[in-house]
Amino acid sequence: MKHLWHTNPIQNSEVGILPRMEPGEVWLVGAGPGDPGLLTTAGFHLLTNADVVVHDRLGCEEILELISPQIKRVDVGKLPGGSRDAQEEIHRLLLHEARNGRKVVRLKGGDPFVFGRGMEEIQFLQTHGITAHVVPGVTSAFAGPASAGIPVTHRTLAQGVQMWTGHTREGAVGDLQSPPKTRIFLMAMGSLGRIVEELLEEGLSPTTPCAIVSHATTYRQRSIVSTLNGVVESVRENGITNPAIFLVGDVASFAQEKEPAPVYVVTGTRLPPLAGIALPGAKFLSRPLVEMAALSGECRDASMARLADILSRDWLIFNNPWAVRHFMGLLLMSGRDSRAIRPRLAVVGEETAFALQKFSLMADQVIVEGNREEICRKLAGMIASGSAAMATALGYNGGVGSSLGGHIDLELFPVYQVVERKPGNVDWSYCRGIVFSSPRAVDRFARAWPSAPVGNLEAVCIGDSTVRAAGEHGFMITRNLTESLPQETGRMEVSATQDIAS
Ligand code: SAH
Repeated sequence: MKHLWHTNPIQNSEVGILPRMEPGEVWLVGAGPGDPGLLTTAGFHLLTNADVVVHDRLGCEEILELISPQIKRVDVGKLPGGSRDAQEEIHRLLLHEARNGRKVVRLKGGDPFVFGRGMEEIQFLQTHGITAHVVPGVTSAFAGPASAGIPVTHRTLAQGVQMWTGHTREGAVGDLQSPPKTRIFLMAMGSLGRIVEELLEEGLSPTTPCAIVSHATTYRQRSIVSTLNGVVESVRENGITNPAIFLVGDVASFAQEKEPAPVYVVTGTRLPPLAGIALPGAKFLSRPLVEMAALSGECRDASMARLADILSRDWLIFNNPWAVRHFMGLLLMSGRDSRAIRPRLAVVGEETAFALQKFSLMADQVIVEGNREEICRKLAGMIASGSAAMATALGYNGGVGSSLGGHIDLELFPVYQVVERKPGNVDWSYCRGIVFSSPRAVDRFARAWPSAPVGNLEAVCIGDSTVRAAGEHGFMITRNLTESLPQETGRMEVSATQDIAS
């Protein structure tokens, strides 16, 4: 194995850096402009530890895909924006959840204090005796321009920045003799024409460069560069829509108007490595339709009852990282720890080996090569006359486990369950295709988004059977990733990803 030890720097320095959330507290967390990579580490930590997340729509969509469906969410973005009733409803909700002793995250687009009414929410909660904190976020006012290549300040072109809402912009022009500055307007699309007219009337030149960046940092990002006298027309021509940042100033000329990257939706729990290689430059949109969850109720009890027997086998086989994590979960729950693991350990794939290392366990055998048959042949050869158990998903009856069962004394041992997730929103008009790692993924897709325009979308598939399933579901354009790579690598990846997906 190449890497012997994996560490997570965040976990190692967790103490003192990440906020501690107490029951009954409310944390206003800035979601950033939309790209989940721009959520702060503190924000992510709070979100994953919350009991309830009360969220906007703007900037929050992708981030909500990151958190477990078990965390309660309340979408207040659907309330009529900005109305007094809506704001009161949000206050009431936050208070109610906090008073019930929940750990509450109020997730707000961008930065909570930039045109976000964050302070109103904090003051309301404080007057009712609730502790409320704020975790700043990356504001779209700066990240929007940056994502289009525009620096909001520049040593020679703009020595200052002003930010306005599209609703009130008195004084946005000010003294034209003062050093050049950048003017940034949020919530300005509804009244763009009027804003432009007023800026011109107040003395800005019609040729002043300006830019619009909509849906900044998301898969729907579009930007245009124009001049004050041409921008309204340009917005119309390009069909630019809300949410958008309107920026006026010389720095706008830095904007890079590049072809947007092709967008592919990934419905599995991870990006199949082959897809990353085969689609360089693509943007992958994560819309997981399943989650690997711990067992519960009777199923968990049944597995717990079998644990002692499983631990007395000669070999334990793990063919994906979730199997490792959930097996260890059961072990700990039963009052045991890694010292109870007597069997030798065989894993499929390096990622699975890393998962074991996190528990200070070294795999005795790591099987990385070959397709399903080869994996089975290797495992069967290794185990030969001994007994083995394989940690699997509940109800798992395919893949390596079932093929191997015919050759050796093997017990399938359920340690986790595959739970369906509610499908997230996708604007298909921005998407080129979908990545499917198994026929079952195609079925799930068809159930989740029955009205997706499959005739125009490319099905990027792993394996022949997946291509066939896509065809059956109406995909006209299909691509088989296993054909696009040298046979050896292709076959190795196929077996690993297919087993994980199943
Ligand atoms: N608190 C937010 C702003 C809320 S006001 C922040 O700090 O970003 C809502 C306005 O923000 C929208 O009308 C739009 O002008 C802007 N906005 C938010 N997200 C955006 C995005 N991803 N791209 C472009 N503009 C965005």
